[in-house]
Amino acid sequence: MVGSHVEPGPYDLAVVGAGAAGLNALAVAGKYLGKDQRVLLIDRRGRAGGMWVDTYPYVRLHQPHRFFTAADIKWKLGAERSYLATKGEVLDHLSYCVEVVRGQVELDEWLGTELVADEAGRDSIRLTCRSAEGETRVAETRRLIKAPGLAIEPNQPLSVSSDRVHSVSPDFCDVRTGEIAASDAPVWVVGGGKTAMDTAHALITSRPGREVNILTGTGTFFTSRDKAFPTGARRWWSGRRGIPTFLEWARRFDGTNERETMDWYRSTIGIAPTDGARNFVFGLLSEAEAGVIRAGVSEMVGDHLLDAVDHGEEVELQLRSGATRRIRPGSWLVNCTGYVFGERLRERPYEPYVSAGGRVGVVSPRANIALLPSFAGYYLGHLMMLGRLGELPLYEFDGDELARQSREAWACTAVTEQLYNLSLIADDAPREVLTQNGLNLDLWYPTPRFLLGAVQFARAHRRERERWRQTLDRVGERFGVRCGPVVA
Ligand SMILES: Cc1cc2nc3c(=O)[nH]c(=O)nc-3n(C[C@H](O)[C@H](O)[C@H](O)COP(=O)(O)OP(=O)(O)OC[C@H]3O[C@@H](n4cnc5c(N)ncnc54)[C@H](O)[C@@H]3O)c2cc1C
Repeated sequence: MVGSHVEPGPYDLAVVGAGAAGLNALAVAGKYLGKDQRVLLIDRRGRAGGMWVDTYPYVRLHQPHRFFTAADIKWKLGAERSYLATKGEVLDHLSYCVEVVRGQVELDEWLGTELVADEAGRDSIRLTCRSAEGETRVAETRRLIKAPGLAIEPNQPLSVSSDRVHSVSPDFCDVRTGEIAASDAPVWVVGGGKTAMDTAHALITSRPGREVNILTGTGTFFTSRDKAFPTGARRWWSGRRGIPTFLEWARRFDGTNERETMDWYRSTIGIAPTDGARNFVFGLLSEAEAGVIRAGVSEMVGDHLLDAVDHGEEVELQLRSGATRRIRPGSWLVNCTGYVFGERLRERPYEPYVSAGGRVGVVSPRANIALLPSFAGYYLGHLMMLGRLGELPLYEFDGDELARQSREAWACTAVTEQLYNLSLIADDAPREVLTQNGLNLDLWYPTPRFLLGAVQFARAHRRERERWRQTLDRVGERFGVRCGPVVA
């Protein structure tokens, strides 16, 4: 039955989105608020965890597990430091992060509930929500952080004309088990990103000798995990720390030379399991994983699939370049395309990262303020609770639009903007905002090396800030994308 429910009194804070970004904002708020303050967490999904709730079963974290958290909440896993957590472990940890905040504030959780509208009044913001059962729920809140993510939903199988292939999606078909694992027919992994690499790796390692092929599209390269996170004693002397690498990256990028800058990155820190890969979305891959994939894949084709068509007894793949390929009837097509920057994101109206006089903060790729959404949630949470949100001229850029025009410019801009905004935050916020950020990948390194990176940033950021700003302005002009402070 469709009913209506109105909450008494305003919440001190509401967070919409129980993924990594929203939980970072929530965990930060837990540091400022007390047990007598009311916080509301809302998510359309039935549990905390965001996109991890329905991502394919063999997904693992790219980065060592401790760096995927909310603020500085420690993992309880007890695994060795380089361990890459499984999907189940990530979900358990994110639920644990909510539990921690439950101990800090009076937390109400509206899970299985969608925010449909928010309207800022003089003193509070009115939230209108709809529960999974169709009930309307209304709440008032003094502050609101919206972190709806990248609109990542389970991928459907590719729709193709052929009746002679099995078209599946990893989100509904675990390639390590069931009919696909029992079959001897070749597999064509469609896509060249992290999901495709995970899928190829899972296929190769669960059934050695199986024919596995990849249609890599543009091809993606990754950051080498071995270089970003060297293990053992090598942490003391080798590896590429994040902050020094970003400083060098932003020094090389002038707003016009993204191709050259990404070539430098790829050749020094990158790893490409596929030839000629140009796409980059800040994923990580190890030498060992890339080696397994290179050795185990029968064929890598650098093209995009348009359709699979039956010709008598045979099946033909039709590719974007105009080329075609005959494949064995009964082959499997696994759709590993288009999670990030999908069309669903476009359907969302643009909202600035801050509005209503600093009372509403939004984590969105269309108003990008940080490299990863988890970082954006973390900084928004701090600035809002400090009463500084909207006071600093942080830059936001339309990452969705820029990535559609040039993935290379998008990656370089994201790094430059991260440094620029961090510089403004460093000058304004208490030191702890930077030093207690558990997402900081440089904490991987022994303390002296970590501190050295922090000192490098402290020395460089005021000197280089104006140049970073000019670079960002140049990107905005060249690509005609929003890139600058929020206009009141
Ligand atoms: C296959 C894959 C693997 C990845 N692996 C990694 C990795 O290893 N490491 C890493 O750092 N990043 C990884 N990422 C990137 C990852 O998406 C982010 O790191 C992060 O988990 C995203 O968090 P988020 O909170 O921004 O979004 P989400 O996790 O998508 O969470 C947003 C939440 O908001 C909710 N929501 C949206 N709109 C509403 C509404 N109107 N009302 C109520 N609720 C709403 C959604 O239901 C969702 O639960 C991966 C991405 C993909 C696709």
